[in-house]
Amino acid sequence: MTVRSLPARVTAAAAAVAVLVGALAAAALLSILALRKAEQRETRAKDVAVAALRVRATAADEESAIRGYALTARPLFLTLFRKAHARLPSELTALRAQVNDRVQLDRVGRLKDELQAYYDDYAQNVILITPLAPEAVRGPAASTEDRLRSSQIRATLASILTAENARARQASTHARRVASATVGIGIAAIVLSTALVLAFGIWVRRRVARPLRRLTSAASEVAAGDLTVRLDDTGAGEVGALVTAFNSMTRSLELAQRELVTRNTQLVESERHKRDLISMVSHELRTPLASVVGFTRLLLEREFGPDEQRRYLEIVDTQARRLASLAGDFLDVQLLDTGTMTLTPSRFDLVDLVREQARLFFHGAETQSLDLRVPSGPVEVDGDRDRLAQVVGNLLSNAIKYSPPESTVHVDVDSADGRAVVAVSDEGVGIAPDDRDRIFEKFFRSEHAAATVGGTGLGLAVAREIVLAHGGTIEVDSEQGGGSTFRVSLPA
Ligand code: ADP
Repeated sequence: MTVRSLPARVTAAAAAVAVLVGALAAAALLSILALRKAEQRETRAKDVAVAALRVRATAADEESAIRGYALTARPLFLTLFRKAHARLPSELTALRAQVNDRVQLDRVGRLKDELQAYYDDYAQNVILITPLAPEAVRGPAASTEDRLRSSQIRATLASILTAENARARQASTHARRVASATVGIGIAAIVLSTALVLAFGIWVRRRVARPLRRLTSAASEVAAGDLTVRLDDTGAGEVGALVTAFNSMTRSLELAQRELVTRNTQLVESERHKRDLISMVSHELRTPLASVVGFTRLLLEREFGPDEQRRYLEIVDTQARRLASLAGDFLDVQLLDTGTMTLTPSRFDLVDLVREQARLFFHGAETQSLDLRVPSGPVEVDGDRDRLAQVVGNLLSNAIKYSPPESTVHVDVDSADGRAVVAVSDEGVGIAPDDRDRIFEKFFRSEHAAATVGGTGLGLAVAREIVLAHGGTIEVDSEQGGGSTFRVSLPA
């Protein structure tokens, strides 16, 4: 369906009304013309009647004068006859000028002939014979001739008058018919125009005014802060386009607002992280720094035997390493935040890596015992060896940190279905269900961990990032008080 614009619809409606009004005006014009024609016809019929009556009167004068002369032979009648006869040509010309159709003209011609014949064949004879033989023109034969000719002349005149009257009646009947048709057309045009204007009004109300009213109230709602407002796309032409534009505007505003809220939350979160980092850094750095500074000063200020000296230097070394590892963690946070962690991949044996890390962590741990179960052959993986060593080291260090001294830490390496799996289980404090989803977040530390053991809350976040970068997964299975199992799965 083609969408027609509002001005196009208004123009179409106006054009339809104009056509109807035009039809009404044309019909009225036609009717006026027909009435005028009928009037002219009637006037002409009257003029013809007057001219015909004048001819009839003159013919009658002629007849009575000739009859008088025949009876009395007095010259006065002859004079009257001649006068009447002299009037006839001009009266016949006037009558001829009034009639304008062929049949009537023929009748006038016939009348003229009859009058001429009356004069030639009868009146002329009476004038000639009366002085010589008056008895002859007074006989029954002469008067019969006179009557016959006179009645013939009257009949012709009557036929002219009847035809003219019939024309006039016909014209006025036609005029009446046209007038009543005009009234019909007028009524129809008025009814149609009214219906059209009404229909257009209803259409404007439903498809223009109503959507605009809804749009106004929706705009007020938006102004009051509700950006979820949407309208049905039901407006005509430009109004429909306005409703669509309004909907897309509120949609964009809502999206922008949602984005702002997310950004704000992120900002608040990052502000909190910054605070956590500062407090954690100051807390975590204080202890090793105090040891390094204290023991170095002691060694510089006093003389110690070689054994004691070595013990203090070992402490300084351990604490300096701890500081270095903290610095490494902070650097990793930076990498996590900027997403710029790069891997240096190589093919290596995962069993070898796990053995190495276990030796490193359980060498100094005189407390927990290690239960290491690895396959007899190598488990080859492609990846960044140092980064994966960091992951395994973090899991082992956590297992030692969060479990009691006499317990055992189980480390399993396995490979199946193209995946290499390292699982580290301890018999320690376990993780509360609520914390289980959060331990991989940056800076998150459980309440228990924060209160009892030192840490940054960064190890697992960095570990997860490294594993994901290798296309692997890291999962935890734990019960509060019932130990934890961390399982890292990598493509072998
Ligand atoms: P950190 O150990 O420095 O706090 P991690 O990111 O390594 O940071 O660990 C985050 C938190 O996860 C710890 O604070 C602790 O609450 C919990 N957690 C990690 N490993 C274990 C574990 N083996 N047993 C119990 N809780 C653990």
